[in-house]
Amino acid sequence: MRPIDLHTHSSHSDGTQTPAELVAAAMEAGLGTVAITDHDSTAGWTEAIAAAEGTGLTVVPGIELSTQLDYASVHMLGYYVDPADPALVAEMARIRAERFGRAESMVGRIGRDYPLTWDDVLAQTTPGATVGRPHIADALVAKGIVPDRTAAFQTVLHWRGGYYQPHKAPPPVTGVELIVGAGGVPVIAHPGARGPSSLFDDAKIRELVAAGLGGLELEHRDNAPERLPRWRAWADEHDLVVTGSSDYHGAGKPNRLGEHTTQPAQFRRLLQRARR
Ligand code: AMP
Ligand code: FE
Ligand code: FE
Ligand code: ZN
Repeated sequence: MRPIDLHTHSSHSDGTQTPAELVAAAMEAGLGTVAITDHDSTAGWTEAIAAAEGTGLTVVPGIELSTQLDYASVHMLGYYVDPADPALVAEMARIRAERFGRAESMVGRIGRDYPLTWDDVLAQTTPGATVGRPHIADALVAKGIVPDRTAAFQTVLHWRGGYYQPHKAPPPVTGVELIVGAGGVPVIAHPGARGPSSLFDDAKIRELVAAGLGGLELEHRDNAPERLPRWRAWADEHDLVVTGSSDYHGAGKPNRLGEHTTQPAQFRRLLQRARR
């Protein structure tokens, strides 16, 4: 069975490839299954599914919904959601609009110190895409201010870099409810990453499970090994699906397709949850 990678991004959010290019890259990498999970958007699904038709590659439709716990951002993957579900569509549109205003405001402040304008950022952005710091990073690169996205995130765009602004998003439990309400399976993305991991406790996890949380993305380069044992214990205790993924962003991040993958048995459990 060819590898299953359940978390990638296209140019409809902060990936650097169109959905068709992403599908071509997935086939080149030898994947059997790839999920397209743009931030707060389903806009890439149709093109990705069409590009994969007749190739033998399975495209799993997904999203990576922005949520927020206290001041930390928590990313909630949602697989097989109904892309026309009114509540989910409205919330994703609200988050995209909020992100747009937040990015514009950050760029206004950056522009006082660096030769960077909002038009420079728009020039790096696919119309309608979910705008984030990666697009500001691309504009900084295009202007020759930093060499690449990673350097931008380590300096100007760092949360302590002097220009950072958070963007508002609903709490994780609302994210779970929206995804379940749209018929999808919610999976917490990279739960052992720096930031929100320590804000979770038994009660918080129980609340999310009661709302319909389906899984945890335990195989991901951002999960720190020392934070994983408690997440593994929660996966066991609540019988959650365990996934693994690359979080590929094209040239925007060093993550390679298939660098982490989901076991076939776990993917089957995800499919079962999606059907009921
Ligand atoms: P934002 O949600 O606008 O605050 O930006 C965070 C997004 O930037 C995440 O979705 C990551 O995919 C991306 N990101 C974070 N760090 C880096 C990095 N070092 N290089 C490229 N992209 C990054
Ligand atoms: Fe991203
Ligand atoms: Fe994420
Ligand atoms: Zn992601």
